[in-house]
Amino acid sequence: MRKTLYIIGLSVFVFSCTSQKNTPKTTYRPKTAVTQAKPVSNTVTEQKQKPQITKDHGIEFYTTNIADITKNDNTASYGSIVSAKPAGYNVVKTYFPAVAQNFRQKYLILHYTVLPDDKSIEVLTTQNVSAHYLVNNLGDNEIYQLVDENKRSYHAGVSAWRSDKNLNDTSIGIEIVNSGYKTDATGKKIFQPFSDEQIKKVAALAKDIVVRYNIAPTNVLAHSDIAPTRKQDPGPLFPWKKLYDEYQIGMWYDETVKQTFMVSAGADIPARYNDTAFIFLVQTALQKFGYDIFPNGRWDDATKKTIEAFQYHFRPQNYDGIMDAETWAILQALNQKYSK
Ligand SMILES: [Zn+2]
Repeated sequence: MRKTLYIIGLSVFVFSCTSQKNTPKTTYRPKTAVTQAKPVSNTVTEQKQKPQITKDHGIEFYTTNIADITKNDNTASYGSIVSAKPAGYNVVKTYFPAVAQNFRQKYLILHYTVLPDDKSIEVLTTQNVSAHYLVNNLGDNEIYQLVDENKRSYHAGVSAWRSDKNLNDTSIGIEIVNSGYKTDATGKKIFQPFSDEQIKKVAALAKDIVVRYNIAPTNVLAHSDIAPTRKQDPGPLFPWKKLYDEYQIGMWYDETVKQTFMVSAGADIPARYNDTAFIFLVQTALQKFGYDIFPNGRWDDATKKTIEAFQYHFRPQNYDGIMDAETWAILQALNQKYSK
């Protein structure tokens, strides 16, 4: 497909160069050019060259997807077209849509608000923090949109995943109304569960977003994943496995692969736990998976918090921040499955 598009594109380019010498610019139309240069693929080419535009509430939308070369096949897109309106000139939207473009929205990040419904709305709409969507806890069928998907919302803060930093630039953020956690007498964080209605809403919303922007499973993350030393949300009671199993959203490990790694992990942990080389190996594995961690061979606070964030997401039964055999096996299974 890409090769065909490239050839068609090249034909247009060649004709463009020659036509500009011989033809007045007022009659220059690539549609005619493509028809002459490549009649066999005329139908396909015309679809690529002239995406349909419809209007909804006065805003123009492409009804064909020209924003992602991997989906350049007439799949629906909801992206609004934001165009300049230079005085005295006509900005033409349909003649020259380029193949080389993609969405800026690369990540989906989930949060909880640590506030009740009314306060969540107030803070997220009036202060210097926001999210694209807010999922309430009222048991209704409404999801609130607070920020246009094409704009940045201020939800991620200082953040990193793999080679990306400042994820506000490239993500969609969903806040879920939830009171967060309280610390018990032993110092353990006790989290507030989400309602089934909330999880269904989040799943439907997340599904819609990851499909439209073709967001990779490795880029559907918790706030705690991209800021592990600062954040806990949405916490260990957010059902990532359910989203993976029932909605095909995000990452999860294969149980049989985990069991295979359990054999070596069960030997590693008691025998090598305090070896600098082993700690370095664990830190490097966390870094490879995506966490922003600096391998230094020490079980320092940043490493403990990063392990805790990993456990919130992938081993929520016990999130003590200690690298035990099961956590180590899961991390290795995930790295094998989702290696770069
Ligand atoms: Zn958050």
